[in-house]
Amino acid sequence: MSNQIYDVVIIGGGVTGTALLYTLAKFTDLKRIALLEKYPGLAMVNSKATNNSQTIHCGDIETNYSLEKALKVQRTAGMLVRYGDQLAPADRDRIIYRFSKMVLGVGAEECEFLRQRYQDFKPHFVRMELLERSAIAELEPGVVNGRSPSEQIVALAIRNDYTAINYGALCQSFVEQAQSVLDKTIDLKLGVRVAAIEPVGANYQVVTDEQTLTAKFVVVSAGGHSLLFAHRMGFGLEYSCLPVAGNFYFTPQVLNGKVYTIQNDKLPFAAIHGDPDITAPGKTRFGPTALPLPLLERYSFKTFGEYLQVLRPDRAVASVLWNLLKEEDIRNYILKNIAFEVPLVNRRLFLQDARKIVPALQLEDLKFAHGIGGIRPQLIDKNARQLILGQAAIDPGHGIRFNVTPSPGATNCLGNAEQDTERIQAHLDCKFDRDRFEAELVGQPHWSLLEGA
Ligand SMILES: Cc1cc2nc3c(=O)[nH]c(=O)nc-3n(C[C@H](O)[C@H](O)[C@H](O)COP(=O)(O)OP(=O)(O)OC[C@H]3O[C@@H](n4cnc5c(N)ncnc54)[C@H](O)[C@@H]3O)c2cc1C
Repeated sequence: MSNQIYDVVIIGGGVTGTALLYTLAKFTDLKRIALLEKYPGLAMVNSKATNNSQTIHCGDIETNYSLEKALKVQRTAGMLVRYGDQLAPADRDRIIYRFSKMVLGVGAEECEFLRQRYQDFKPHFVRMELLERSAIAELEPGVVNGRSPSEQIVALAIRNDYTAINYGALCQSFVEQAQSVLDKTIDLKLGVRVAAIEPVGANYQVVTDEQTLTAKFVVVSAGGHSLLFAHRMGFGLEYSCLPVAGNFYFTPQVLNGKVYTIQNDKLPFAAIHGDPDITAPGKTRFGPTALPLPLLERYSFKTFGEYLQVLRPDRAVASVLWNLLKEEDIRNYILKNIAFEVPLVNRRLFLQDARKIVPALQLEDLKFAHGIGGIRPQLIDKNARQLILGQAAIDPGHGIRFNVTPSPGATNCLGNAEQDTERIQAHLDCKFDRDRFEAELVGQPHWSLLEGA
């Protein structure tokens, strides 16, 4: 057993955990921090570049966000771009990418919706443009070619924006930046699985397969497993979990940038989009689908048992699931997403949705992206009897905090780290240099970086 006491131990080497490691190392006076990750590398689960949509969600083209939510994510999304912009150009260009992005309205109702949204959002998103058919064709010919001239289309677009990101490379960069801070112990322990967390006096013992670490504060940023750790310690019992997997399809390159579609208000998950895959040049990726799957980690079937432990079924959970299923649109949507998995019909069905974006797509263009995609651990709030669509933190206030981070959790990683750091500061009475944090990461809105780009 190690007798060294860490100020903070972070569990989970995805983008949430590594953003916190970076923030604590750079902006606090804490001297001893460890990050434990069960896999031999960072970002092997949802933060892996291939396993998410690679989008910096700014709130401008996400029609499932209200203006209030959009302004919130705009701030934290801007932090990612500010972070990237301070790196050496070669490092920055491996992490954040510029493309155009748009949300496409198809049909009279959706077009009217976007025109109205433009009026509301334009004052806050100054680079936003309302594009009619010919301007869309200039930016994204694939969206217009082969589309019936009688079908109305309009788009809200932002050109040449930092809109795509390799979250896996970002994790690596966060750790490198943290380890470059002098006079601190920053221990990265890969391939170390945490088995239990036990309170001992005012501290916690973090028990791994190999050793036991003692920490004054523990932050669990282990995706869906954060809920499992919380439940095992008797916290967050008011939450259950609905894991929703997201799969993708590849096509040859048919889009230049990101093209999102409008969310049906009744559906709890974003509609599919198409965009260039930054890890597969020359290809366009469509998705993600939204498939309820009883696993805490995609492709890890041994997490089925762990999922059963966090499910904690009771009347409240049944009522939330029933309310989802009894809504016709949601029921059909879930059934369609299940059918996306059924051989022979899956590609044909998916093609119908993808053609809303690129009408000329052919069946032979679509290839299922095997081994790619992740799971969004959506929380069910049993007290409120509702599905929580964003991320959540379980914070019992005892020097421990659990982050559960479905989308847009990766975009929010630095905002999350800021909140975790505030809680750690309050508990450990350490110094958090908020002025420098704000100056380096918040500052001006990120689009000003693009002037003249
Ligand atoms: C299909 C899909 C598309 C998405 N698209 C976007 C997007 O475009 N933009 C966006 O902002 N967000 C997106 N998200 C959400 C985003 O991927 C997540 O919010 C983000 O990756 C969560 O990061 P994390 O570090 O909290 O979790 P993860 O990346 O899952 O990391 C958790 C880590 O904890 C480790 N761990 C678990 N248990 C233990 C243990 N016992 N001991 C040690 N380590 C452990 C795991 O191995 C893992 O490395 C998407 C998600 C999905 C599934």
